Amino acid sequence: MQVLKFGGTSVGSANRMKEVFQIITSDNHQKIVVLSAVSGTTNSLLAFAQMLASGQIQEATAHIDNLETKYHHLVDELYSDIQIITTAQNFIREKFDHLREFVEKPFDTAQEKQIVAQGELISTQLFTWYLHQQGQEAILLPALDFMRIDKSSEPDEYYMKSMLEKELLLAGSSPIYITQGYICRNAYGEVDNLKRGGSDYTATLVGQAILADEIQIWTDIDGMHNNDPRIVDHTYPVKNLSYDEAAELAYFGAKILHPSCVLPAQKANIPVRLKNTMDPQAEGTMISDRKADGEITAVAAKDGIVAIKIKSGRMLNAYGFLKKIFEIFEKYQTPVDMVTTSEVAVSLTIDDTTNLSKILLDLRQFGQVEVDQDLSIICLVGNFTSDQRGYAMKIFSAFEEVPIRMISYGGSKYNVSVLVHSQYKKSGVAINQPGSIRSGINISFPPKVKNTVWL
Ligand code: ASP
Ligand code: MG
Repeated sequence: MQVLKFGGTSVGSANRMKEVFQIITSDNHQKIVVLSAVSGTTNSLLAFAQMLASGQIQEATAHIDNLETKYHHLVDELYSDIQIITTAQNFIREKFDHLREFVEKPFDTAQEKQIVAQGELISTQLFTWYLHQQGQEAILLPALDFMRIDKSSEPDEYYMKSMLEKELLLAGSSPIYITQGYICRNAYGEVDNLKRGGSDYTATLVGQAILADEIQIWTDIDGMHNNDPRIVDHTYPVKNLSYDEAAELAYFGAKILHPSCVLPAQKANIPVRLKNTMDPQAEGTMISDRKADGEITAVAAKDGIVAIKIKSGRMLNAYGFLKKIFEIFEKYQTPVDMVTTSEVAVSLTIDDTTNLSKILLDLRQFGQVEVDQDLSIICLVGNFTSDQRGYAMKIFSAFEEVPIRMISYGGSKYNVSVLVHSQYKKSGVAINQPGSIRSGINISFPPKVKNTVWL
């Protein structure tokens, strides 16, 4: 069995949905198809929830009426069968009546989760009816019956595996199953989700649960590029990436993939193919356990990074110092990305600054604290095994003209991270352009680069 995930733009209009139908019926593999909400819907539902949270009742009602109208148009365009059109129009009316009920209720975050879940519930139902109209056998599997996260918001793999097996048995055999991406239940049985972009994660978790032959993530770009196409010209899709490389790239700015979604596929050693709905023939990117062969495969950059340096004489020859520092980040649930240490200082980076002032206050008890903002991590991905000589020199010389704030080399065989001020990002990411690394890198100083994140 295969798992195919289609993102919001891939199901963004009646025509797009029809193209997805062509793609999923073009071969005889049995498949579970995971769908996102129609593009723009999740944002729109979150905006609706935000309006309710701030008591803008009239705006919220107008907003949701407006979204409903779009869906009625979509239904008219999608189907030709009068009976299905009537059923689908009634379904849309019921769903939006349900959404309007939230206007009356006192607002809380549990409701926001229920509101936002409607996007995937609608897209999957509409698509399943389209398959039926086309005479295609397909069964809708409710993700809320088998997708679950535990108390620490981590996927409950054991539960999902056993529940999905049961669901599939109960549903009976079908060439195609459809299910919702993104949405799940939490440990208390409430409707929850896997965070923005989480449909990719659903796809790989489902793939892991059923030990799929292959997982395909269909988006609107032809795979992961070797560099940020918005910053650098002539980028190209990378044909093969290892799981580790893909995970690093997904985290460091390549928004094509949800950063956590590589792990389930890696654990079960299932290949993940990134494909383009707009160009189904394009080869895309294959993510598997195949290692890259000693090249810099790709570069990505992540903006909005803050570096914190803690300097203390007490660190000299002391043990337990780092533990105390990291406990502060744990206390404020703030992930740390890069770390470098010297005998008397430690520098680390974060990108979630929600609790920055509290963190700094707590850190000051350990020594002098310095903070640098507006930084970018440039992530070089490739195979940097220690028996290969010369990478450090090549990387350092590539950054000859760029002031480096931190560098992290050796943490992983597949990644070297370099921290620079965001204004130097463009020079940094350009280093894997054809000819650059091997032929004595050509760096020119860029104009100040916008703080945008790749893709
Ligand atoms: N619909 C959700 C979002 O927009 C999940 C997804 O598309 O992956 O974030
Ligand atoms: Mg996405």
